[in-house]
Amino acid sequence: VEDALRQSQKMEAVGQLTGGIAHDFNNMLASVIGPLDLLSLRLGESDPLVSRYIDMAIDGANRAAQLTQRLLAFSRQQPLQPVPVDANRLVSGMSDLFVHSLGGTIRLETLLAADLWLAFADANQLENVILNLAVNARDAMPGGGRLAVETSNCTIDAGNAEQHPGVPRGEYILITVADNGCGMSPEVVAKAFDPFFTTKQVGQGTGLGLSQVYGFVKQSAGHVKLCSEIGRGTTVKLYLPRLVAEVAPVAPAAPAGLRMPA
Ligand code: ADP
Repeated sequence: VEDALRQSQKMEAVGQLTGGIAHDFNNMLASVIGPLDLLSLRLGESDPLVSRYIDMAIDGANRAAQLTQRLLAFSRQQPLQPVPVDANRLVSGMSDLFVHSLGGTIRLETLLAADLWLAFADANQLENVILNLAVNARDAMPGGGRLAVETSNCTIDAGNAEQHPGVPRGEYILITVADNGCGMSPEVVAKAFDPFFTTKQVGQGTGLGLSQVYGFVKQSAGHVKLCSEIGRGTTVKLYLPRLVAEVAPVAPAAPAGLRMPA
């Protein structure tokens, strides 16, 4: 509990600071990218070398813009909009994204449970979170490997609570993202969710992927568990609370509303 508190205080402080900076920085970037685009249009193909330099500048500015987008998402300037989500459909709908971001050497396996319960979460953010995990898995398997994305219904009760340490009893949609990549040392696991913690080279990692994952599950009343072993791989489990439909006490009178489990 203390760890979780420390983590969320850290996230909040860093979030407020970065949110403000990212917002202003984004506006400044727009005033760089706009004129560069115009310049590029105006010059056309007249001077190939100059066009190349302009394209390089636009590329750099676009990369900076992507970073500020991540910072904004992390600092929660974009509030979550939870809706009933079919995680199977969401994962299936990501196949193009996976192909695009994973490259050719990684084998993707999706295992989707039949009769999966609905979750209650922000669908766009959930997609971002799964993509963050997939990209981390890709980075952990430079020579290729296997990425498994699995969904299942998960009831945690007295009988199996010890298999899900730290997750309260209840009904969840469990989304598991597992790779057989390089894995993490216990020291890296301990810091992995910290904002700006990265072992990647400058320009390759921001250290915000997993803290975004953490922020998302916390705001969704869910949980995240990370298991990793050097040389064997990494498994991330997302527990999202099941959406339960409220049955109206007087049968035909009121329509059934949707609410979260207590
Ligand atoms: P980033 O990917 O930008 O470094 P993250 O917060 O997503 O930021 O990850 C933090 C660190 O955790 C990574 O730099 C890496 O060391 C480690 N990590 C995350 N996911 C994995 C994975 N699937 N396999 C091995 N290491 C990982």
